[in-house]
Amino acid sequence: MSSVDGDEIRVVLSQVFRKLKRNKGFSPMSAGHVALVIDGHESHTSCFRCCDGCLEREIDTRSGTRTQYYHRHVAAHLVGRDFTYMVDIEPQRDSDGEITAALALYERVHRAYSRSYDIVMGDALYSCQSIWKAVLANGKQIITVLKGNCKTLLDEATKLMEHQAPAIRKKKSTSQEIREVSDCPSWWDDEIKICVVSCRDTKKVKRQLTGEIEEVVGKKWFWASSLSIDDIDVFRFVDIARKRWTIENEGFNNLVTNWHADHVYRHEDNAFENFSLLTILAANIFQIFYSRNLKEAYRKKTTVRRILNLIMAGIDAEAIVVSDTS
Ligand SMILES: [Zn+2]
Repeated sequence: MSSVDGDEIRVVLSQVFRKLKRNKGFSPMSAGHVALVIDGHESHTSCFRCCDGCLEREIDTRSGTRTQYYHRHVAAHLVGRDFTYMVDIEPQRDSDGEITAALALYERVHRAYSRSYDIVMGDALYSCQSIWKAVLANGKQIITVLKGNCKTLLDEATKLMEHQAPAIRKKKSTSQEIREVSDCPSWWDDEIKICVVSCRDTKKVKRQLTGEIEEVVGKKWFWASSLSIDDIDVFRFVDIARKRWTIENEGFNNLVTNWHADHVYRHEDNAFENFSLLTILAANIFQIFYSRNLKEAYRKKTTVRRILNLIMAGIDAEAIVVSDTS
């Protein structure tokens, strides 16, 4: 695995996605949008073993300060209506290098998937000039979380929203208050305008002890975007912006829990990357088989774990036949 060329696995990943699209297995979200979500993930930590690709940091332990070695990569994930597909990863080469790795990853993903997405999404770290410029230069739109790291823009948008009546949407027991301000100057060029959208959920919860209905006010989220609210209504905007979390839930969590993606099979820089890419390829192919080949009635009466076990048993049986005949 140390000597495998990761780009060969990347080619297979894009071929599988093209076939999925051709067979109508991947549809856009509402109004034809497909998001490309980019985010960082820490895959391994150790105080004992390291390799050329390890990042280092000092941590405080009971026995004093120690050096901890770790691996991080940035991943890109396509999000459609009811299907997500992880497309590629790029290892992070220094502790503060997530944006550098993300730019390299984004340009590579854009070359292979340029016609498959129209919006790039990222967390607050991605509210920065280099990422925004790269995305806009490719003719795509961008939505990033806005937090204290863009204080001037956040303060200005908050001030403008103060006296604005919110758009209200009710969904079952949850009510959403959404505000938007268009034409905020970007943090690097006054000519480039940014739209800022905020959303706060208020949920009605019935307390078990007293039986009283209580209103729980959620955190207020802010997003910066190159999209104009004239082109997309605010409710649809919030639905799309919240899909950023799919990279955590359907991406990293699924890969780590069901596919042991963070297991170290061989501690070597290139092997790390190739094992991750192969795991992503296997998880994507399985997800296509599970949601596009199996009938819904069958999916309902079984579990993902059981189907994985059946596939493993099939592979084992095949391996026994091969070893017997050889
Ligand atoms: Zn290492």
